[in-house]
Amino acid sequence: MVQAVVGANWGDEGKGKITDTLAEKADIVVRFQGGANAGHTIVNKYGKFALHTLPSGVFHQNITNVIGNGVALNIPLVLKEVNELVSAGVPAPKLLISDRAQIVMSYHILFDAYEEERLAGKSYGSTKSGIAPFYSDKYAKIGFQVSELWDEEILSEKAEKICTLKNVMLEHLYHKPLLTKESLLEELHGYRDMITPYAADTATFLENAIREGKTILLEGQLGTMKDPDHGIYPMVTSSSTLAGYGAIGAGIPPYAITKVVTVSKAYSSAVGAGEFVSEIFGEEADTLRNRGGDGGEFGATTGRPRRVGWYDCVASRYGCRLQGATDVAFTVLDVLGYLDEIPVCVAYEIDGKQTTDFPTTALLKKAKPVWKKLPGWGCQIRGIRTYEELPENCRRYIEFIEQQIGYPITMVSNGPGRDEIIYRESPLKN
Ligand code: GDP
Repeated sequence: MVQAVVGANWGDEGKGKITDTLAEKADIVVRFQGGANAGHTIVNKYGKFALHTLPSGVFHQNITNVIGNGVALNIPLVLKEVNELVSAGVPAPKLLISDRAQIVMSYHILFDAYEEERLAGKSYGSTKSGIAPFYSDKYAKIGFQVSELWDEEILSEKAEKICTLKNVMLEHLYHKPLLTKESLLEELHGYRDMITPYAADTATFLENAIREGKTILLEGQLGTMKDPDHGIYPMVTSSSTLAGYGAIGAGIPPYAITKVVTVSKAYSSAVGAGEFVSEIFGEEADTLRNRGGDGGEFGATTGRPRRVGWYDCVASRYGCRLQGATDVAFTVLDVLGYLDEIPVCVAYEIDGKQTTDFPTTALLKKAKPVWKKLPGWGCQIRGIRTYEELPENCRRYIEFIEQQIGYPITMVSNGPGRDEIIYRESPLKN
């Protein structure tokens, strides 16, 4: 059985925690897209960890972790994360890296930084992890695939080509030091040595695992709003964040994915620029930001304060639809216990007309939130383990949002820990 854990919104929905919870019953956890530009925060018996590249199954000794072909592979960072786990007392994880994954090179990271510098105030808010230059090169067919690391002829030919192409921009656009073939080859040889114990034909491994009836978790990064096709283009990431892409980025049949757990947080948050209709500001925002998540809403990778807002039913319904949600995991609900009233965005007003359909970016820029206020429950709900024990207003909040988004909320997360989860029968699920 293959299930995907993906985000309905802007990312940081708590996917890491949900994956870590579901991983207890999984045999394999796979990363299928993105790179080290975002992070999952996981709290467990070993401590609190921010994973950027490693799959979330690395804390379970019986799980094989796979970095799929769709990932932007930063090899030194992967090894650094493995070393960090081991030094924190976590047993060395079982890790396989696709031989079809492509490599984030140091010049991708430099180009990301140079471009941000060039754009100055008009930048896209990149995390400067090299992700956009990496995917551009992948689709321009000038990237390095892991499998090529053992072919000197290919490496030499490609390194030369890269120098020719990149040095034009380095010299004339960015006015920065040029690349040399020798330094590129040295970098690539270093990567070859580092990755040798992990490189594998992971698509065949997964094919066999599916045949053997193993439980496989596909772990998404970011959320629907950051998808390059269906999100808030151009303030998006460079690889698809949708469960459908899981088939491609892992190398498995699309019909193998039978469960799509779509994670949506009980309020909204976003890192970086881009449209965010239900955003709030000032003191109201500061309070939510400081109480939010587990120790405040600050980026796991960047430490940047996250923008926050109330729950957006329009964006979330769309987010769940594009993911193909079979289940919604509703997270971080415990944080809202301090409020007497909780505003929820139920529609957008665009040019004087109300809509519940999520529009393209040009129209989204004009959208104003239409609020509905729901009564709060005014107490701490951490420690509660059954749905019936939740305060009535809390259940009403969940059920109202479920009705608005139209997808079954079957899991409610009321704390950052792995066991802080309430399973629920949804009337929408038959
Ligand atoms: P991801 O990228 O979707 O995995 O999300 P992040 O890990 O960046 O952000 C989620 C944050 O919320 C982390 O700090 C988690 O430990 C925390 N978290 C997850 N679920 C819950 C929850 O139900 N309650 C609280 N209070 N924190 C949670």
